[in-house]
Amino acid sequence: MEIQEAVKKLKENNKLLSAYYHAMGVLYYDFDTVAPKNAVGGFSETMATLSEITYKLSVNEENFKLLDLLTEHEAELDEITRREVEQAQRGLKLLRNTPMEEYIEYQRVQSEANSVWHEAKAKSDYSLFEPVLKKLVDFNRRFASYAEPGQDPYDYWLNEYEEGFTQEVLDKYFEKVRSALVPLIRSIGEKQQPESGFLHKFYPAWKQRALSDHLMQVMEINRDDCAIGETEHPFTTGFNKHDMRITTHYYENALESSMYSVIHEGGHAIYEMGNCDELTGSPLFGGASCGMHESQSRFYENIIGRSKAFIELVFPKIKEMFPEELEGVDADMFYKAVNRAEPSLIRTEADELTYSLHVLIRYEIEKKLMHGELDTKDVPAEWNRLYKEYLGVDVPCDREGCLQDSHWSGGSFGYFPSYSLGSAYGAQILHAMRKELDVDALVKNGEIGKVTEWLREHIHKYGMIKKPAELIRICCGEDFDPDYYIKYLTDKFSELYGL
Ligand code: ZN
Repeated sequence: MEIQEAVKKLKENNKLLSAYYHAMGVLYYDFDTVAPKNAVGGFSETMATLSEITYKLSVNEENFKLLDLLTEHEAELDEITRREVEQAQRGLKLLRNTPMEEYIEYQRVQSEANSVWHEAKAKSDYSLFEPVLKKLVDFNRRFASYAEPGQDPYDYWLNEYEEGFTQEVLDKYFEKVRSALVPLIRSIGEKQQPESGFLHKFYPAWKQRALSDHLMQVMEINRDDCAIGETEHPFTTGFNKHDMRITTHYYENALESSMYSVIHEGGHAIYEMGNCDELTGSPLFGGASCGMHESQSRFYENIIGRSKAFIELVFPKIKEMFPEELEGVDADMFYKAVNRAEPSLIRTEADELTYSLHVLIRYEIEKKLMHGELDTKDVPAEWNRLYKEYLGVDVPCDREGCLQDSHWSGGSFGYFPSYSLGSAYGAQILHAMRKELDVDALVKNGEIGKVTEWLREHIHKYGMIKKPAELIRICCGEDFDPDYYIKYLTDKFSELYGL
């Protein structure tokens, strides 16, 4: 086959896959937002049929040959096509090297694990989940050895989620996080917490919906390109730069919850809306990695959204909407309340300061599991020990301990670090941005679009064309450096708590 012809075939295949993913994504969004409860049967059936079609479109000898041919001639390809081939090979490596029967068995165990985990969590009984977790750990260790024989299994999985990252880099990263944050959190523990009860008065959902509209307007999100829905757990999905969907959840006794979900998910949406036009319909549409995606959502949520400048910008409007609930509260009190830092049990509810320690605990446990140094039976004891040591909290039960996250039940080991890396990327990106922009002044004046413009030019437009480490170099002019994150947190929280 001529290279020209092979490229044409690749693009046709991508177009077809992209159309299927678009359809499946809309079905999923519909199912999670507005479909009636009993839609589940038909929905699952249709999704299974469509997944089989997309699976067969990628996993077949003809496609393997096509990708191998293009890989051999990669020097002749343009940058986007070359990266499309590289990513497709990456995605197929595991499937091509794993015996079919084992892979099918793995998928069976995975779906079993999901329902077992739900039950174990509801009953707060780890012993129900342990046997299936053990199987998943074994599968993951074996699959890593099929895909990359001779490589450390945890390094293999880390690289799957955050391309280019290994334990060597992450050990150093987390060591810095641990040694700086554990003492900082301890000193804050001795200080008085700011008043925050006003965030938990009654905030009717219909009024919070109006606040969401206002926040999206402040973020300069074009509503003709981005819709908002309501789900149990907020998420973002996108099909092309003119069709993004974010969701939120309204708790009438917690103003902060939906407010920061909208800003966080809005950040994810802004990232993809800023992709360059060439990526429409390409598998490279989206974000460079999980960590880079989180870096953008957390940039808007924490670095912008929890800054003094932002609170000064939005507080008058919030107060106008909720005059009775916020009687006697000023912008400074609001700023302090939304930045409370307190060790807690649940990762997804953790504040900006303590968040990375939750991730570090999971990193240490996964590392030992992948190396066969920790028996799955001993996970709860190790979990509880680390929570006490790093965060100073006692874990009362497994539901609020090692059964809280769904990741392991889905067979994901190595995903967690990207959550923390996202925050660290964000702090380094802020440092680079400040060399060119007066970020605080722009935010205070309601010119967040200028911040977005900078991010678009340095990060968003590339979609998945560049790897995360490469993007950091392009954007910041140097390699990834966790010191910016440590300094950002130390400065912000020392000031907040008067240390
Ligand atoms: Zn996110």
